Amino acid sequence: MNKAPKLRIICPTPGSRHIAEKLVASGQFDLELWQRPKTIAQGVRTGLSAGQPILAVCAIGILIRVLHGQDLGAKKHGLSIIAATEDGKILIPLLGGHAGTNRLAKHLARILGGTAILTTASDQTFALALDECPKGWHLEVQPRVFSKFMQTLLEEREADLSQAPDWVQSSAIPHRSGARLKISWQLGRPYADELPSSTRDHLVYLPERRITIGLGCARNCPSGYVTDLLHKAEQRLGIRFSHPAFASLDIKETEPAFAEIAPKMRFFSSTELQDIPVPNPSAVVQDEVGTPSVAEASALALAGEGATLVLEKIKNHKATLAVALAKNPLPEQETAWPGRPRAVLKIVGLGPGSPDLMAERALRALEEAQVWVGYGPYLDQARSMGAHGDPQLLAFALGGEEARCCAALDAAAKGQQVALICSGDPQVYAMAQVVYELVARHPGRLEWQGVHVETLPGITAMHALAAKVGAPLGHDFCAISLSDLNTPWEAIERKVQAAAYADFVIGFYNPRSQKRDWQLPRALEILRAHRPADCPVVFGRNVSRPDEAITVTHLSAFDPCAIDMFTCLIIGASFTRRYKETVYTPRGYQLS
Ligand code: SAH
Repeated sequence: MNKAPKLRIICPTPGSRHIAEKLVASGQFDLELWQRPKTIAQGVRTGLSAGQPILAVCAIGILIRVLHGQDLGAKKHGLSIIAATEDGKILIPLLGGHAGTNRLAKHLARILGGTAILTTASDQTFALALDECPKGWHLEVQPRVFSKFMQTLLEEREADLSQAPDWVQSSAIPHRSGARLKISWQLGRPYADELPSSTRDHLVYLPERRITIGLGCARNCPSGYVTDLLHKAEQRLGIRFSHPAFASLDIKETEPAFAEIAPKMRFFSSTELQDIPVPNPSAVVQDEVGTPSVAEASALALAGEGATLVLEKIKNHKATLAVALAKNPLPEQETAWPGRPRAVLKIVGLGPGSPDLMAERALRALEEAQVWVGYGPYLDQARSMGAHGDPQLLAFALGGEEARCCAALDAAAKGQQVALICSGDPQVYAMAQVVYELVARHPGRLEWQGVHVETLPGITAMHALAAKVGAPLGHDFCAISLSDLNTPWEAIERKVQAAAYADFVIGFYNPRSQKRDWQLPRALEILRAHRPADCPVVFGRNVSRPDEAITVTHLSAFDPCAIDMFTCLIIGASFTRRYKETVYTPRGYQLS
């Protein structure tokens, strides 16, 4: 993702530092301070060449001298310089006014309690900057085309505003129907055109967050039917949708096609939809789902009061679609949109411990979640691994896995974004299977059936340990948990026997605790009967955590007392090799 460049503040005098302090305190900027009085020129030049916007608290004369002879290369490089007086009361954009510097200067002035003095002509003549749209509008235009339009507007002092956005119509620009210059708005970019729609005679604005699309579909409808309708809708309206907001009926929350096409879809109940007046109500739909309209009604419900349906229901064999236009833009934050988000439960693997061994996707899921559920120390670990946000925490004690998973499903069923946190990988002796099993066992719990469950993988302890010593898992391997809390010991022993006989490398989890101290010696007894005395054994306590301890030894020297519940253990196959402190299991290549 592209980050906005840091605002460079040149504060050469002690009297000007309060400006930087105020801006820092506002928390709205990523700032870089340049305080060296003797090198203002250097500060400006390096900032410009790095494409940074610059706020220079110094005389305009100094800046003019610094800029003299510089290749400013017109405005296309996005140069942005604002001069400010030492008291921060006056800010004057010098370069890049129409490319965002005016807007930045006004914003800074608001924070500093000062005034931005704009010298660009449109601001003077029409008390309006046509390239600074109010929230909810977007002008897609090349800077040169915009300058040309403005030049003509300043000469002709009139434009046809009959189809202009209301904030342009109420400006000081004189309106005349049929004038050469035209300002209008349209739903989206023209369907067949790749270029911005504005020209030197015609400025076109696009509304943001105003188009809502209502979708309906048959159960398990392939996503192609929905994309087909989206293309048809674009053709009918003659535009391309850009980030439209999607809505549907809540019983459609788990439709895979919707999750794929509209991950941020909003959902409404049939009660919320049934009374919305629509042009194409259907008695069949009413009988099936309790509301006479899904696509049209949900598009209108999401668009809110005063919305208009701009495309009535269209359909193919398996899906329906309708498009509405909201009167006002939807809030920037999706959480404030009407309806509810899809109930989502992400089962997140933290990896073995070190933050850089956690998948980026897992970190994102933690940050997006409104609720974290898990064993208390895992929640602390998730926080210490750099996941920000302010989630509600549902911390559980050790054990009680089922209660943890029920709590996570219940929270998700309320429409919350939930992360159920596991160490390592969520499928390896952890929570994922419990969640899937609970959902499968309770088909009657409709609220759980509607939850979209997703597993986010993590690096499991066995892999993290193996990587520390080389490649002990280089050929066939298996994992066995020695915990007989939920599995009868006979079943575990059978697997150890079979793995020993089949000559798998074995990773042992939950190898030994204070109460369960005889299981590991028994497993070793079985293995010693099948493997040589010098068979490599590797164990790691708290792998990838600050107090990590890794040991490489062999079967006859291995003492199970060195093992506890924070340890993962790998026992090599009969042909696993040790070389110095590394261990590898050959895969049978005939290496020379
Ligand atoms: N889901 C976890 C495993 C949970 S079972 C994973 O995929 O790693 C708990 C067992 O995992 C512990 O008894 C221990 O055997 C092992 N374990 C988990 N994290 C570990 C680590 N950082 N170092 C060593 N062993 C670990």
